[in-house]
Amino acid sequence: LSNELPKKKKLALIQSLPIYSLQKGNLKELENVTLNIAVTGMTGAGKSSLVNALRGLPNDDKNAAPTGTTETTMEPNMYPHPSMPNVKIWDLPGIGSPKFRAKKYLKDVEFHTYDFFLIVSSERFKENDIELAREIKKCKKIFYFIRTKIDNDIRAESHKRNFKEWMLLKNIREDCKANLLRVGIPKIFLVSSFNLEKYDFQKLINTLEDELSENKKFALIQSLPEERPLLLCTTCLTWDSMRWQKTPNVFFLSQLA
Ligand code: GDP
Repeated sequence: LSNELPKKKKLALIQSLPIYSLQKGNLKELENVTLNIAVTGMTGAGKSSLVNALRGLPNDDKNAAPTGTTETTMEPNMYPHPSMPNVKIWDLPGIGSPKFRAKKYLKDVEFHTYDFFLIVSSERFKENDIELAREIKKCKKIFYFIRTKIDNDIRAESHKRNFKEWMLLKNIREDCKANLLRVGIPKIFLVSSFNLEKYDFQKLINTLEDELSENKKFALIQSLPEERPLLLCTTCLTWDSMRWQKTPNVFFLSQLA
């Protein structure tokens, strides 16, 4: 199977496997896998405020990431997640320059040390957001797209006649989707760090928690050295005569990335 399947299919297969299909030893290993989540985007987009929201801290808490109208994050800062063990949230320096090059930025922040990215963007969609998304995807990393400061959008539009909040939210979501189409649409969340009960903040938290195991599994696979195959066992899907079949099976997969 390992030889027959192209790399992309193998990766898709691994990702589709339920967590319990990993060998016992790997499961133990999975518990210990640290997931490094990097929060990135333009300066002022609301990255540090989102980091604080994810940690359940107000911006003026003494342990909060510094926020403000000028760039406050010059190098990646790590913040432990309050309730998810082995999850580290990294507040990355903002993208400021119009001459931004996503490839260089990702190299400078040592992208390979992160397993997962949250791309944060406020107001109108920017070309830098796309470039960043494209480059992150090229690096075979997963990302969610977070559109912040939704409260500002609502305030700015609410005086208009025929204003409907749901319609505005729908339009913002559609705009994000249309722009992200070029990089394959990721999960999109509309958030206000000043109003966490509203919009998609809770959905973001739930998704992060729900997909934690999957993302850790992915991180584990990515971190495996090429010469060390991952043993998958018991009821696995096998490729047979152009059909996926459920059969008891044991096989090795290596050189995934
Ligand atoms: P960063 O540079 O991307 O880390 O952005 P910050 O988190 O420091 O936020 C920049 C400015 O935007 C600060 O003045 C924040 O208070 C403000 N801000 C951040 N998130 C929101 C939000 O969801 N709504 C509103 N209205 N302002 C926000």
